[in-house]
Amino acid sequence: MDDANHEGAEQPRATGRCECGGVRYQVSGRLRPVVHCHCMPCRRITGHHMAATAARRADLQLESESTLAWYDRTPETRYGFCNRCGATLFWTASDKPSTIAIAGGTLDQPTGLRTVLAIYTDQAADFHSLDAALDSFPLDQPDDHRTWPGSEGGS
Ligand SMILES: [Zn+2]
Repeated sequence: MDDANHEGAEQPRATGRCECGGVRYQVSGRLRPVVHCHCMPCRRITGHHMAATAARRADLQLESESTLAWYDRTPETRYGFCNRCGATLFWTASDKPSTIAIAGGTLDQPTGLRTVLAIYTDQAADFHSLDAALDSFPLDQPDDHRTWPGSEGGS
């Protein structure tokens, strides 16, 4: 490779982008396991369901955001998307200001992630086969899935 070593620069945990490349990002810290959200807004916005990991906002670095736009679905929640290729990229909630959900399909492969949970399964499309191997909650997870499921630092 011709690239010089970036001394001191930490290898990002993950990189990702929208389909056209107008939005590119890096994540330097942990990524949450993937959660499938079948709520109606996620169903309509993604065309099926959201499959999202999450990161601390401070760990997300936007390398390119020239086509990043935000859809304020409610005063509290909004979806980040590419206004050129239409990719769904991000989801944020005002009650979780330090966290950002990232549409898992926008990550470069391999992600090293696995899916652990499905939520709002009562709103899943009737053509969707729910995965019996996943924990499912008809509404939101009792413990907020948008932070970090499972114990962080304990087992
Ligand atoms: Zn794009």
